[in-house]
Amino acid sequence: MASSMSMLERELGALFGARLVAARPLADLTSFQIGGPADYFISVETENELAAALGAAYQTSTPAFCLGAGTNLLVSDRGVRGLVVHLGRGLAKIEIDGVRVVAGAAAQFGLLVETVVERGLGGLEFGEGIPGTVGGGLVMNAGAFGGEIAKVVTCIHGVTREGACLALASGEIGFAYRRTNLPPGFVISRVEFDLAPAERQSLKTRVDELRARRASRQPRGVPNAGSVFKNPPGAFAGRLLEGAGLKGRRLGGAAFSDQHANFIVNLGGARADEVRALMELARIKVREQSGVWLEPEVRIVGDW
Ligand SMILES: Cc1cc2nc3c(=O)[nH]c(=O)nc-3n(C[C@H](O)[C@H](O)[C@H](O)COP(=O)(O)OP(=O)(O)OC[C@H]3O[C@@H](n4cnc5c(N)ncnc54)[C@H](O)[C@@H]3O)c2cc1C
Repeated sequence: MASSMSMLERELGALFGARLVAARPLADLTSFQIGGPADYFISVETENELAAALGAAYQTSTPAFCLGAGTNLLVSDRGVRGLVVHLGRGLAKIEIDGVRVVAGAAAQFGLLVETVVERGLGGLEFGEGIPGTVGGGLVMNAGAFGGEIAKVVTCIHGVTREGACLALASGEIGFAYRRTNLPPGFVISRVEFDLAPAERQSLKTRVDELRARRASRQPRGVPNAGSVFKNPPGAFAGRLLEGAGLKGRRLGGAAFSDQHANFIVNLGGARADEVRALMELARIKVREQSGVWLEPEVRIVGDW
């Protein structure tokens, strides 16, 4: 790994110069505000740059990980080995042509929702208040209040781990509840949506309703990564966690929220190890109490 990394440093250093950053801490790039350093970090602005970065990592046998807005991640305290690729503003454009919308993977999902609602296009209102990028939303099949991104996506564009451009139609994405089945290492650069014309004021009213519902349910002003566990079939993870006595349970700087048991919050200085230990404890307690193994929704990444 050490020699493959120095090869990567040479290759990417030649292409990106000082934009290639070594030992970049990731905590400030995650909504949990937790996470150690990436060995190498690069922010790319075009599909060609993305292809070059992934291609160089592949050629040098260096693992590559795409970081979106970091709102669904628990990054190890030891950080991430290899290359972390981040998509920059150049890949955040939103283009609208009739009911067809193309959004760069780095666009903020919330901005996309606001933009299409303003244009009288329906289908993405459920996304009000879901933080993160369009690319992260696609990978997670982000959803809320009965809606999900899968329902309005027609096609995605991106780069394979080998560094080749590839487009996938909606039916090839393998959408399921809070997950997709994309080729390993595939990084999305653009997402195409087919939305429905709708009356702007009624879309706005719906978005306002959803915003109010979200505000009354979720912890605010304290770092977290949204729902920690997926809802098991026919049940709510939050209720199972509450039933198992986890609400408010604390370990070091991390705790299950007092407001919603399916959120773990960083009360200040929480370590990834603490969050992970709380998650493991919760899985065991819920299993004992109700016979259900909860499946994490938050992605646990890096070197543990
Ligand atoms: C307060 C709060 C509320 C939330 N509410 C909801 C909710 O209601 N519904 C919901 O579904 N989620 C919710 N989330 C979780 C999170 O916002 C979503 O999962 C979001 O879509 C993740 O996007 P991201 O850009 O932050 O991705 P990240 O967290 O950075 O990454 C998530 C995964 O996507 C991959 N990824 C990111 N970008 C790309 C790309 N361009 N190409 C390939 N892979 C990529 C990463 O490698 C990682 O595996 C919430 C989070 C918070 C903090």
